[in-house]
Amino acid sequence: MDLNLKHLRLADGSLVDLTVTDGIITAITPAAEAASEGGCRYLFPGFVDVHVHLREPGFSHKETIATGSLACAHGGFTDVCSMPNLNPVPDSVENLAAQQQIIDRDAVIRVHPYGSITVGQNGEALADLAGMTEAGAIAFSDDGRGVQDDAMMKAAMLEAKRLGKMIVAHCEDNSLLRGGYIHDGEYAKAHGHKGICSESEWGPIARDLKLVEETGVAYHVCHISTKESVQIIREAKAKGINVTCETGPHYLLMDDSMLQEHGRFKMNPPIRGKEDREALVAGLLDGTIDMIATDHAPHSAEEKSKGLVGSMNGVVGIETSFATLYTGLVKTGILSLPRLIELMSTNPAERFGIGKPLAVGEKANFTVFEVDTEYTVDPASFCSMGKATPFEGWNVFGRCLLTVCDGKAAWYDPSEVTL
Ligand SMILES: [Zn+2]
Repeated sequence: MDLNLKHLRLADGSLVDLTVTDGIITAITPAAEAASEGGCRYLFPGFVDVHVHLREPGFSHKETIATGSLACAHGGFTDVCSMPNLNPVPDSVENLAAQQQIIDRDAVIRVHPYGSITVGQNGEALADLAGMTEAGAIAFSDDGRGVQDDAMMKAAMLEAKRLGKMIVAHCEDNSLLRGGYIHDGEYAKAHGHKGICSESEWGPIARDLKLVEETGVAYHVCHISTKESVQIIREAKAKGINVTCETGPHYLLMDDSMLQEHGRFKMNPPIRGKEDREALVAGLLDGTIDMIATDHAPHSAEEKSKGLVGSMNGVVGIETSFATLYTGLVKTGILSLPRLIELMSTNPAERFGIGKPLAVGEKANFTVFEVDTEYTVDPASFCSMGKATPFEGWNVFGRCLLTVCDGKAAWYDPSEVTL
């Protein structure tokens, strides 16, 4: 692919021209400011999301590697890590290879599969972490479920440490759920819903951090949603414990006062209270939270049609992540644009050893956004098969025009870009 794009702005505000020849970036040269230049197009390194559910193999009525990876490209992503709650669960070399085969055949961006921590994600026997490391698992997670048993988690950490791999934990204590399905806060009380207490998340994080201290494993916490989680991780980092964490756009931009009686507001962990949301933003600003991940979790329309009580957990987010965060955090002056790009690209890339730099001599891996035109989030425009998002109807800025991965256009808007 050859490409010549003029007057692109980098996150730091500088203006450049970009040349790609045969899929390689051959020049990024300073451009002169032109007073008459309308509109502004930004050039970013490809975004990296370490937490997505692409649903294949096993659940292709929700999403496939083809549709999910195209949705990622449409959101500006060149690298994503896919969670293992699949059928078969990638808990062995053979099952991981089955998923990798589909990725090799259908993915339009780089998809890095997790291996599961336990066999079948059942929490009872350790999966073949050594074999799956050899076979290319990016790290290990039982996402969708917490590892309940302390000894099992410790054994997993010791093995992951030995293999030089990371444990990526969905922290949830099943004994504290008590049938809850949204945050145990004002909205649940006012509308007679069963709540999930915050301790069901921060309790297991606190447990794991003790085990991380004992084992020395590299540890990453998925989708933190509570103020206590932020504080516990802040303290662990101050002690020098090898921990990173992520949160998602919906936890940063919404609180439970914004819930509605619809399945598109239901995910696990749930959208929490106002103080939690504020603590998460503070965690982004002081570096306690290392990265933003969407937990893109598509389901069929039918599965999301049963309100807060009966719908399945999970919302899509990969195609609205940049726009909602740019609009809600950058345009409002809470977060700088360079910091947002760190959180969406460079930080996850560094921690997980994935992603590719935006630099001359490298294969082209980048995304181009325009941020001047306001539009309304409309799930009908998504490439994802999943349409349930709490951001439906929000007015946002930040539209992807082009995503290039490995020197090839993975997604582009033909009305804006000629290739
Ligand atoms: Zn999870």
